[in-house]
Amino acid sequence: MKLYNTLTRQVEDFIPHDSSEVKMYTCGPTVYHYAHIGNLRTYIFEDILEKTLRYVGYPVKRVMNITDVGHLSSDSDSGEDKMVKGAKREHKTVLEIADFYTQAFFQDLEDLHIKKPEIICKATSLIEFYLHMIDVLMEKGYAYQSGGNIYFDVSKLDDYYKLTNHKIDEMVVGVRDGVEEDLCKKNQADFALWFTKSKFEDQELKWDSKYGTGYPGWHIECSGISIKYLGEYLDIHCGGVDNIFPHHTNEIAQSEAYLGHSWCRYWCHGEHLNDSTGKMSKSKGEFLTISLLKEKGYNPLVYRLFCLESHYRKQLVFSFDNLDRAASTYEKLIRRIQNIQANVSGELQEDLYQTYQSQFQSTLEQDLNTANALTILYDVIKAEELNSYTKLALIENFDTVLSLGLLEEQEQEVNIEQDTYIKQKIAERNFAKENKNYVLADQIRDELSKMGILLKDTREGTIYEIEKR
Ligand code: AMP
Ligand code: ZN
Repeated sequence: MKLYNTLTRQVEDFIPHDSSEVKMYTCGPTVYHYAHIGNLRTYIFEDILEKTLRYVGYPVKRVMNITDVGHLSSDSDSGEDKMVKGAKREHKTVLEIADFYTQAFFQDLEDLHIKKPEIICKATSLIEFYLHMIDVLMEKGYAYQSGGNIYFDVSKLDDYYKLTNHKIDEMVVGVRDGVEEDLCKKNQADFALWFTKSKFEDQELKWDSKYGTGYPGWHIECSGISIKYLGEYLDIHCGGVDNIFPHHTNEIAQSEAYLGHSWCRYWCHGEHLNDSTGKMSKSKGEFLTISLLKEKGYNPLVYRLFCLESHYRKQLVFSFDNLDRAASTYEKLIRRIQNIQANVSGELQEDLYQTYQSQFQSTLEQDLNTANALTILYDVIKAEELNSYTKLALIENFDTVLSLGLLEEQEQEVNIEQDTYIKQKIAERNFAKENKNYVLADQIRDELSKMGILLKDTREGTIYEIEKR
């Protein structure tokens, strides 16, 4: 399997540290608001990655955090804690906000057929472990106390910028949003591991520690949760491209300094979903959610299809026109599969099954080429060499990764009574033809046609399609 690795800036063969289990960590949501459909594009890409790994035969252990403390409105340690901001906005407590938006996030995952990672850990549940990591970083001389906070000293590392390949003063982040400079830091890129008095004011959640009562920085939580559950060697770490700096850069710095060796081999990042005004973001106020798409009458799986039609490393522009196009593709796709299922016949054509299955697998193995994987699905649907039984077996197999509800939708929509009626009419028409009563045969076909049921005579017998109205 080949994956693009942000760390080496090339597509590489994927070789896990321990082939008995792939260890995968994916940054989760900050639960101060609904996830927007841009965030969910990243979770869809990660879902495809996990399912592809499983599809090609790797057992996967995947962990995701839920950020319920420590993520400030600027990723570079300034501004208000996003959770506190969310709580104020809704006149609720931080815990109420966290619970509500965590459940909303789980509902989004379900609606989009995204598999929940086995381990989902709230940032607030591992405070002791972050403090232990901070102790080690202090002992090793990588961290220092200043103005009451604990910071990581990036000047102690030669390769702090290895993930981005750019120095902080070359980047917009860190100096964006008119961020005020934190005078407690020794270097501009140093980042907080533990906040105390300098960031207090109305912080609701805080914990006692030998560094003073306070709360953890955002970055340490992902390193802590990952190392706690996945151990010292991580295979894959994912997120959206905005996580590359400073979040993932800081995760690498503190994890490798703590462990004393290199930590994660493959860094995989999904590109952003943009709207006509640029990057979709929550700070812009109004933003699109899955529940909003549902209210407007879209099946959430149409959005999943829309994402899979393009490569995860390419920026994608959202518009309702584009979504409508995906909705029409999805409807046709389901309709064609319904027609196949309404006329199941034949036995599994093993050789052909293998051929199409391995084409599908190898296209996903090329850095998750979902657009080509969809093309192979369409090829299967129209292939004349395949009988309907084999087609359905392949569709079912492909959908273990695509998760577009290809057969589920069909089960809901197939009307058994109608199916029995049509099949009876086909049998009557066949009988009429055998008896050379072509007038009756045509009459039956025309009657069905008026009802939107089109008959097709194939080598395997007569099948029907329901005309799209
Ligand atoms: P957050 O809840 O803000 O921590 O973000 C959750 C995930 O969504 C992170 O992996 C981000 O990198 C990702 N993300 C943020 N904005 C976008 C966007 N416009 N398109 C795709 N992914 C995004
Ligand atoms: Zn993270």
